[in-house]
Amino acid sequence: MSRTDFIKSLGAGCKNWAWSWSFIDEVNKKIIFGAWEDLKSVDEKKVLILSDDWNENENGSSKLGYIQAREHLNKVMLEGYQLYTFSQKRRKGVDEAKAAKIESFIPTIELKYLVREGNGWYATEQEQYSYTPEILEEYYEGDKKEKWSTYYERNPKARKECLEYHGYSCKVCDFNFEKTYGILGKDYIHVHHINPIATIKKRYKINPKDELVPVCANCHAMIHIGTKTLSISELKNIIQKNKV
Ligand SMILES: [Zn+2]
Ligand SMILES: [Zn+2]
Repeated sequence: MSRTDFIKSLGAGCKNWAWSWSFIDEVNKKIIFGAWEDLKSVDEKKVLILSDDWNENENGSSKLGYIQAREHLNKVMLEGYQLYTFSQKRRKGVDEAKAAKIESFIPTIELKYLVREGNGWYATEQEQYSYTPEILEEYYEGDKKEKWSTYYERNPKARKECLEYHGYSCKVCDFNFEKTYGILGKDYIHVHHINPIATIKKRYKINPKDELVPVCANCHAMIHIGTKTLSISELKNIIQKNKV
């Protein structure tokens, strides 16, 4: 089976089968990369999926693959997509600094987590949620704040820590999905990221206890509906004012 047939059989696609290095399944929110089994990190625990060195190329073709790959990685970091990899081996005798060429691959994918180290992007078994703001910034100049918030709000590990601390009732209106909907609403609540971007910029990590708050779906929509993101207390005041 060719790599293209394998990717197609997974229901995933890309912009162009000739130059793509990474693939997307928009229905199941999966990003699929080949992991170069012989290109591991120093501690051998992470497998390389992309290198910044592969950005430049004489004929420009692999550059397109690089740009698409970075778009795909941003979906993993910011839009709740999950990273999957399949193992592949490099063709020998290709310049180390240049983009690796595929020799063979194993047609199964596994769930992995994305890690940045040096100028490489690696897949690892260990879940993380601390990408540097600089990395996130590169591709989202326009609306940084929203994208960063989205990233933290959708990160499962940050979400878990927030909910363990704050519980499952809305911080604005106190709505609790389980109380109203029973078992159906158990574990359902949105998580909102409250910190302004200026303060995150200086740090790598957020504190899920202080910076994430549980909010119900209605309150969360209202927080984000205007041109300015509302604070919890601003929205509480609005609700108060509209009570008769
Ligand atoms: Zn609410
Ligand atoms: Zn929010």
